[in-house]
Amino acid sequence: MKKVLITGAAGFLGSHLCDRFIKEGYFVIGMDNLITGDMKNIEHLFPLENFKFYNHDVSNYVHIPGELDYILHFASPASPIDYLKMPIQTMKVGSLGTHNLLGLAKAKGARMLIASTSEVYGDPLVHPQPEDYWGNVNPIGPRGVYDEAKRFQEAITMAYHTFHGVEIRIVRIFNTYGPRMRVDDGRALPAFFAQAIRGEGITVFGDGSQTRSFCYVDDLVEGIYRLLHSDHTMPVNIGNPVEITISQLAEEIIELVGNPKAKVIYKDLPKDDPKVRQPNITLAKKVLDWEPKVTREEGLKITHDYFKTVVK
Ligand code: UDP
Repeated sequence: MKKVLITGAAGFLGSHLCDRFIKEGYFVIGMDNLITGDMKNIEHLFPLENFKFYNHDVSNYVHIPGELDYILHFASPASPIDYLKMPIQTMKVGSLGTHNLLGLAKAKGARMLIASTSEVYGDPLVHPQPEDYWGNVNPIGPRGVYDEAKRFQEAITMAYHTFHGVEIRIVRIFNTYGPRMRVDDGRALPAFFAQAIRGEGITVFGDGSQTRSFCYVDDLVEGIYRLLHSDHTMPVNIGNPVEITISQLAEEIIELVGNPKAKVIYKDLPKDDPKVRQPNITLAKKVLDWEPKVTREEGLKITHDYFKTVVK
């Protein structure tokens, strides 16, 4: 039985990855320090014999007994309000945490996949963003702690590959949504669902003309699963290229939820908020034979059903 360590296991993406690797017959070791993760996301895995959980901060030395085949590093505060509240932890988990896990990968001969991000492209001057675009990041702006930690993470991971021969995979994740997103993580999609269900104002930042491209979580997990098992060591964008404005997202969620009290209210645009974002997924199509399958209509409906059960 192949063994995989998944950090950030109790988070949104980490928990979906745990489910997928369990389903594929792996022994899954989940690790999380629960600063943004939630045990409820993985509770159902605890009775299984091929699942084990460690409550641990990967910014400190990581010890795993026995053999290890794969490491998926998904631990990090990942929403803008989270990394504004926890700037130092965000920098540490991307840098020290990645370093510790690369050391573990080297010691065990394990293949390491890191969760990078579209934020490495910053407020992009090339649109849509291909992997060979180097980005437009403000290192000392509010998003700098996340963006630069992730850029450092890519750099040190590549260095361990070239210098120590560690097998690496780098996924650049674009906006993803689905069940288990935290209601209060401050991101547009959960915020709009919670506000619409409660009949509150839908807080569109700026004039709502900024764009994002939203990928349903099952599609993302499929892309990551394929990347891990591919032989591609360079970064690969995984995301849905269908781009919409934030105003359009707000309208779609208002319509879906159908609460007549939910109306758009405008708030200030946060500093350094990217104006556009859309993945160029030509590479993923070519090397992974992957593209998203779930339409926004289907994905939003499943996500709405989830939020109905958790929004108070
Ligand atoms: N946004 C918004 N209202 C909110 C939260 C976010 O209009 O309540 C905007 C935000 O300014 C950004 C976009 O929605 O332009 C997506 O933000 P999110 O925090 O979801 O993720 P990002 O892609 O910026 O990391």
